[in-house]
Amino acid sequence: MKQKLINLDSTIYEHSFDKTALESLRSLDGFDTVTNFILNWTTIKWHIVQLCGSNFYVTKESCPELYNMVHEAAETLDIDRLPKIYTQWSYNINAMTTGYKNDTILTIYSGAVDLMTDPELTYIIGHELGHIKSGHVLYHVMAQFITQLISSTVLTGKFLIPIQLGLAYWNRMSEFTADRAGLLACQDLDSALSAIMKMAGIPKRYFSTADPHVFLEQANEFMHQYGDTVNSIIRNISILDDSHPWTIMRAYELVKWVESGEYQAILDGHRGKRCPTCGHFVALDQDKCPICGRKFD
Ligand SMILES: [Zn+2]
Ligand SMILES: [Zn+2]
Repeated sequence: MKQKLINLDSTIYEHSFDKTALESLRSLDGFDTVTNFILNWTTIKWHIVQLCGSNFYVTKESCPELYNMVHEAAETLDIDRLPKIYTQWSYNINAMTTGYKNDTILTIYSGAVDLMTDPELTYIIGHELGHIKSGHVLYHVMAQFITQLISSTVLTGKFLIPIQLGLAYWNRMSEFTADRAGLLACQDLDSALSAIMKMAGIPKRYFSTADPHVFLEQANEFMHQYGDTVNSIIRNISILDDSHPWTIMRAYELVKWVESGEYQAILDGHRGKRCPTCGHFVALDQDKCPICGRKFD
């Protein structure tokens, strides 16, 4: 039986890489200008209209099982603003969240629905809901459109390049936070890992015999051997095929978080926020960190 994580604040589980990358992104020159421009750019509205006009709309009536699954995951993660749900015909195991201002749209690929077990699918749905809960959607949209914006010359300037790099880097880092939300939604580490393993490319005929622990060994070995190189690649390259980003690193980071005890602490009912200075968990009603003394607003 899954626990409902009542009063769950996303700052308690957000990955420090995600937070740091977003903070440095927001401090770049011209970032607010680009944000406002992108938000009002017609292309984005067209994109949303196209998405809604091409895919299957999931409602209580049209597809109750999937609809309920999304709603249950949202309830587990204590999210009350739900996205519109669509499915799209594609045998990639994936899902994506996009949106415009307060309207978010969750698109789940049919491959994810057909090829996943229920807990694995809940993990994938929880991952996307995690992007919504942490307010990632706007920046995802920006990351998606900035290349187009640069090449279309509607907004020019050298300042766009650092923003593009910053967005691409943050985009990859935000996956770690969303993976934690996915795990909190499905509450089953093996299912989370096997979902990531399927995204990494294990063929369907081996689904029933694949062992997530062997996959984890691959992840440990890979990070041991290439960890430093990976960090510099993901920091410095803006255009990569990010549709299934960095599955090995994601599995590795997710397990590291579970091993830290923070995941279990949340399941055990620990709530609160995290001190931005020292990282300590602090109860929501406290206005000062008991460890480092930082005052909260
Ligand atoms: Zn994601
Ligand atoms: Zn502190």
